[in-house]
Amino acid sequence: MGRFAPSPTGPLHFGSLLAATASYLQARRHDGRWLVRIEDIDPPREQPGATGRILEALERYGFEWDGPVVYQSHSQSAHEAALARLLDSGHAYRCGCSRNDLADAPRGPLGIIYPGTCRAGCPAGDSAIRVRTDDSAVAFIDGLQGPQEQHLESESGDFVVWRRDGLVAYHLAVVVDDHEQGITEIVRGIDLMDSTCRQIWLQRLLGFPTPNYLHVPVAAHADGQKLSKLTGARAVPLGRPEKLLVQVLSALGQQPAADLGKASLREIWSWARENWRIEALTGRTRILVDSNAMAEGKNGLL
Ligand SMILES: [Zn+2]
Repeated sequence: MGRFAPSPTGPLHFGSLLAATASYLQARRHDGRWLVRIEDIDPPREQPGATGRILEALERYGFEWDGPVVYQSHSQSAHEAALARLLDSGHAYRCGCSRNDLADAPRGPLGIIYPGTCRAGCPAGDSAIRVRTDDSAVAFIDGLQGPQEQHLESESGDFVVWRRDGLVAYHLAVVVDDHEQGITEIVRGIDLMDSTCRQIWLQRLLGFPTPNYLHVPVAAHADGQKLSKLTGARAVPLGRPEKLLVQVLSALGQQPAADLGKASLREIWSWARENWRIEALTGRTRILVDSNAMAEGKNGLL
């Protein structure tokens, strides 16, 4: 069982289409189910209408998901139940530190390394909730990127599972939802690989099995910056999706024949399903594209 879990912060662009295609084909190639989950847990960052535009683009490109679309915001009670378990078992605690209080905290590749200020308690008032970590190795073998390992206490410190503004934090939401939905294989962009150990840490504390992880390369501009709304990635065109879908398959190392772009969507998906080899992405981290050319229906693979 696989899934595609976009945040409704903007329309579907080539980078998200790439991740959707990889997770979809990986599930379908192995006769698995595939869900679409909208990660709408951060209202301040959301863009009105983005969910509808993402779903419309997925439909136009011929994705067929199993069951209804899942909205992460609808699982609030499951998120709260998981938080209560972490608090009751002493694995989580309130942290009253403001951004200012942490201004001098050490930083690493994962961001601020929380120094443990509130581990022994903090004054009442506005607070986030952090989960305790230790410095044992948290390791997993990524299906494409090989062995990965982090020591959380020294690399991230105790991390936030519930935000100060009352919203669930991303790591906890994703772990609870993947478990509730029975996801067994997570295919997603490599930009999320460094969050995996924190998610595995939460799975262990909550007694959830750890799914298999395969981190696929992300689409990037010629300068190496990841395609995103912030770096000006354009929405995928909704007319004539066949041509871009074939470019996606090429970008994913699948070697479609040159004239496959003239086939129907159904035929393209059928070819892709039969010939899908995720191994073609082994060890790759970036796929360079010109997203302007793609948005205009031209070849944008660099
Ligand atoms: Zn604190």
